[in-house]
Amino acid sequence: AAKESGRNRFSYFTSQLQTAALARMRLTSELRTAIAEQQLEVHFQAIVSLASGTIDKAEALIRWQHPQLGMISPVEFIPIAESCGLITQIGDYVFQQALLWIKKWRSRYQSQFQISINQSPMEFQSDTTRYLNWVQQLHQQGLPGQAICIEITEGLLLDASTKISQKLGQLRDAGIQVALDDFGTGYSSLSYLKKFKIDYLKIDQSFIRNLSSDESDLALSEAIIVMAHKLGLKVVAEGVESASQSEILSAAGCDFAQGYLFAKPMPAEQFEMLLQQQQKNSGLRQNCSN
Ligand code: C2E
Ligand code: MG
Ligand code: MG
Ligand code: MG
Repeated sequence: AAKESGRNRFSYFTSQLQTAALARMRLTSELRTAIAEQQLEVHFQAIVSLASGTIDKAEALIRWQHPQLGMISPVEFIPIAESCGLITQIGDYVFQQALLWIKKWRSRYQSQFQISINQSPMEFQSDTTRYLNWVQQLHQQGLPGQAICIEITEGLLLDASTKISQKLGQLRDAGIQVALDDFGTGYSSLSYLKKFKIDYLKIDQSFIRNLSSDESDLALSEAIIVMAHKLGLKVVAEGVESASQSEILSAAGCDFAQGYLFAKPMPAEQFEMLLQQQQKNSGLRQNCSN
């Protein structure tokens, strides 16, 4: 009987592996078509200034609207895109979509509005002229580099290569800002914070989740905020879902917050309605004080 169940467990395991491998193969072969047929869609999530309560920035987050499988998470297909050489194509698409909206949102709603774009390590290291090309496209639209922010992760800074610091310098020279995403989860040393030119730390949502009940998470978040400020960086808290988290972060001096408490990621047209709403409300406030 033991032998029997052992074999069953084994075949269960292999069949699970097979299913996973098959699913991956399917997605790999379909991703190319997805790009061509515009099944990829960029959503935007609000980033709120805790001091003013206004939406000052947005993060662009890619989604795959698969005709049969429905919405596929980037967590699933970004690694596939990396391994089959499609990641820069996806990144360029996200940039193009951001470019399409940022001009309008800056001119109509918030003149300093900024869109954050995630760059996977492989993509960041790829081509040296790529970001210069982005800058050129921004300028052609009359937009400064500050209109976008590049989000990278700590892993990229691990090897401390001069190529990476050169590229970060290039971005800085062009006015493009840089955020360190998922900060605190990357097993890297803090020394890179003085070596590399970075503008924002994004505290990972795993520290925010239990902020109101877990004293060590609170201590770590407060310490990150103090450290960042001493180094001249601004802080964004990720995954803020409750008012109490937001209040704690505000009290700790955190600059920005992002999370379901404020807004989920949503299509551009819908995001624009948030900006519109905000403008109306601030108009109302102004009228009242008159
Ligand atoms: P990320 O850059 O850390 O993005 C934040 C993730 O947290 C997003 O997941 C967002 O939907 C989710 N999130 C935001 N607020 C909350 C909240 O209050 N609670 C919870 N539980 N989650 C929240 P998403 O959109 O599934 O993206 C996952 C990851 O995929 C991103 O993590 C990023 O690493 C990657 N990604 C997304 N879009 C792109 C892209 O265009 N290019 C690259 N290279 N990676 C991308
Ligand atoms: Mg991000
Ligand atoms: Mg993150
Ligand atoms: Mg992440």
